[in-house]
Amino acid sequence: MTPFADFVALCRRLSTTPGRLDKRRLTATFLGSLDPAEVGTAVAFLTGRPFPPSDPRVLGVRGLPGAEGHEGGQPLMIDDVLAAFAAVADATGSGSRRGREQRLRALARRASDDQREILARIIGGEMRTGVSEGVVLEALAEMAGADLSAIRRAALFLGDLSAVAALLARGGAEALASVRPRPFVPLLPMLAEIATDFAEVLAVHGGRTALEFKYDGARIQLHRDGERVGIWTRRLSDVTRSLPDVVALARRDLGSGPFIVDGEVVALDAAGRPLPFQELMRRFRRIHDVEAAVAEMPLALHLFDCLVAHGEPLIDRPYAERWDALARLTRGRFLAERRIVTTGDEALEFRARALAEGHEGVMAKDLASAYEPGGRGKRWFKLKAAETIDCVIIAADRGSGRRIGWLSNYHLAVRDGDGFADVGKTFKGLTDAEFAAMTDRLWTLAVADDGYTVRVTPEVVVEVEYNEIQKSPTYPSGLALRFARIARIREDKAPGQATTLEELTALYERQFATKGRGAPRGSRVRLRTPPGAAERGGAAGGM
Ligand code: AMP
Repeated sequence: MTPFADFVALCRRLSTTPGRLDKRRLTATFLGSLDPAEVGTAVAFLTGRPFPPSDPRVLGVRGLPGAEGHEGGQPLMIDDVLAAFAAVADATGSGSRRGREQRLRALARRASDDQREILARIIGGEMRTGVSEGVVLEALAEMAGADLSAIRRAALFLGDLSAVAALLARGGAEALASVRPRPFVPLLPMLAEIATDFAEVLAVHGGRTALEFKYDGARIQLHRDGERVGIWTRRLSDVTRSLPDVVALARRDLGSGPFIVDGEVVALDAAGRPLPFQELMRRFRRIHDVEAAVAEMPLALHLFDCLVAHGEPLIDRPYAERWDALARLTRGRFLAERRIVTTGDEALEFRARALAEGHEGVMAKDLASAYEPGGRGKRWFKLKAAETIDCVIIAADRGSGRRIGWLSNYHLAVRDGDGFADVGKTFKGLTDAEFAAMTDRLWTLAVADDGYTVRVTPEVVVEVEYNEIQKSPTYPSGLALRFARIARIREDKAPGQATTLEELTALYERQFATKGRGAPRGSRVRLRTPPGAAERGGAAGGM
C-alpha cells in the first residue's frame, strides 16, 4: 500500500524536471516501487484520469469542492483515493449530486493542500507534469525490462495504458504475448501508399497482388459480440448511434462474432447513386432524427478485411487468409469487388472496370501481408484514376508472335505546332477485333514502310491512359508516357483536336505538384470523367 503523498511528491518532481529521460526514469522508479495492484491506478492518475479508459465509470462532478480544514488521522493511500472516486461515481438516484459532492468533500478533508491540488488536477483531467502517454509507455518498458514495440502493440490492442501497466506489473514482459485485439477496442486502420505503376506494385508484391475497388466513401470498423455492435470511423470516433442501419445489418447478416471487420460505407441517393463525401459526413454526425436520415440516405457497405473472427485474432495472419475468413463471416455478401492479378494488363483492365463503374481507382494488397494497425506502407497501395490524353497514331510496328500479321505497336504523338511529336508507343488496350480493324485502316494511311515500321498519315486519334509523364532522352519532344495504354479510339476527334505538347508539358509539371501528397479531395487531376461515371453505383451491398 502506497501513500497518496508519494504520488503527489512524484508529480511535484515531474513538474520541475524538464528532461524527458529524467521524467521517464522518475516514473519508472515510482511505478516499480508500487504494489502491482496499485500500478494501473497510478498510471490512470498520472495521465489525468480518475479511472482507466476502459472503465466506463465517470465522476460526474465539475471539480473538487472546497474542504473546510484538514482532518488528521490515517494517511491517505492511493487505494483510498480510488475507493473514494468509485463511491462518487456509484452515487446515483435522487440527491446523487449532493451525495457525490459530500463524498468528494470527505476525501478533500483527508488530504493536505498539496494533495488537494493533485486531486483537483486528476478530476480536471490535466496533470501538467509534462508526462505524455509516450513517456508512460517508455517508463513501463524501463520498469518491466520489456520491448517498447511490444508495449505499444499491447496498448493498441487493449486501448488502455492502465491495463497494460497492470499486466506488466503482475506478469512481467512475458505477459504481453497474451494480449489480443478484442471487440469494442477500435484499432487504427491500416493505410495505403500511393502508387502509379502496376508493374512496380506487382514487383513489390512478389508477382501477384489482390486488387480491390477503391470506394469513395468513409472507412468504418465494425465490431460485434453477441447483440452488442460498435462502429468507429477512421479516426476512431464512435458512430454507432448514427448508423442504426449498419448495426441492424451486422446483427442480421453477419456471423455472431466476436468479430472485427474493416470496410467502407458509401452514401446513396434515392436512385441508388453515390452521394458526395460531405453528405455522408452529415449522416455520420447525426444523432437526432437518425431514422429519418436512414430513410433519406441509405448506405452501401463494402467490407475488405477481417481483424477478428469468432474471437480469434487474425491481424498477424496473411491477407489471403483474412479475406477467406471475411468471406465466411459474410457468406460472400458485402464484399469489396476483388480480383487477384499477375500482369499489368489484367490490373489495368480491372482498374478500367472500377473507373467505368464510377469508383476512385483500386487498392492493391499484398496477399502475404499482415494487418498493421495505423501503418502506411507498401503492403497496400492505392492506384487512382490514370490520366488520359488524346494522341495521334503516326506510325505502327509490325506485330510478332500472337500479333503477327497485324500492325500492333502504335507510335503515339501529340501536336507540336503544325507537326506531331512522338511521346510513346503502345500495343496495349485493343481487343483482337480492334487490332484487325486498326491494321486495315492504317494500311490505307501508309506513306512509308521499312519492313518493320509503317509510317502513316496522322489521322487516327486515340485516348491514351498512362501512369506518369517522364522526361525522355530519346524523343525530340523531351517527354514520354510511362505505361501507356489505349483507353479508346476517338472516332469523334480530328488530329487537330489532339493534346498539344504544351499541354503535355503542363501536365508533366503538375504531376510534381500533387504526386505523393495525395491531392485534396475535389482537386484531383482527372482530365476526363471516366465512361459510365454518370450511372455509377451498382447494387453491391445496398442496405
Ligand atoms: P486515401 O483516403 O486516398 O488515403 O485512401 C485510403 C482509403 O480508401 C481508406 O482509408 C478507405 O477509406 C478507402 N478505401 C476504399 N476502398 C478500399 C478498399 N477496398 N480497401 C482499403 N481501403 C479502401
